[in-house]
Amino acid sequence: MLNQKQILNRRHWVFDMDGTLTVAAHNFDQIREELGLEPGIPIVKTLDSMPPEKANPLRERLQQIEIELAREAEPAEGLMALLNALQSKGCKLGIVTLNTKENAWITLEALGIEEYFEEYFVMGRSCTEPKPSPEAVQKMMQEWDSDLDDTLVIGDFLYDLQMGRNAGTATIHVDPSSEFEWPEMADIQCSSLKELQSLLV
Ligand SMILES: [Mg+2]
Repeated sequence: MLNQKQILNRRHWVFDMDGTLTVAAHNFDQIREELGLEPGIPIVKTLDSMPPEKANPLRERLQQIEIELAREAEPAEGLMALLNALQSKGCKLGIVTLNTKENAWITLEALGIEEYFEEYFVMGRSCTEPKPSPEAVQKMMQEWDSDLDDTLVIGDFLYDLQMGRNAGTATIHVDPSSEFEWPEMADIQCSSLKELQSLLV
């Protein structure tokens, strides 16, 4: 069993974006319905498995929906304080999102936190194999030259936690509903970034 303090002292933090750094605004069921996809199926993976003539118009529609959400993004509770705390500890920060890289930057600008992140370390859905593949985390670790025991993944959804597990890092589940549906996948559970930051000290 990993000890909480040891995990929180790690220096390479890989975040999910939507619903983790932001107040969750994506209603994925509604997005699936708008795209004509079956309930519950993974959106990006499903589009990737379709022939281009079918997938391309759906990708465009998805991009339109997500760019609107990106422009209206609101910071999750405690976001700035956590990023400042991590920055002052000299931590390296990354983002792996199933959104596009373009929308990720629009979101970061809307939140006013773009200066905390370097271009390479914001990976969108077409930068690598999508979550829960560990590829994005592995690429970041290679670039940082970091070890598994100095890296962690933070997210609000199962794919984030699975990505961390698949890569072999520790995982933190941030769940504003405090339901914590996947306890076996998370080393630390907290209800907000504010709570997470309070654990750092
Ligand atoms: Mg999320």
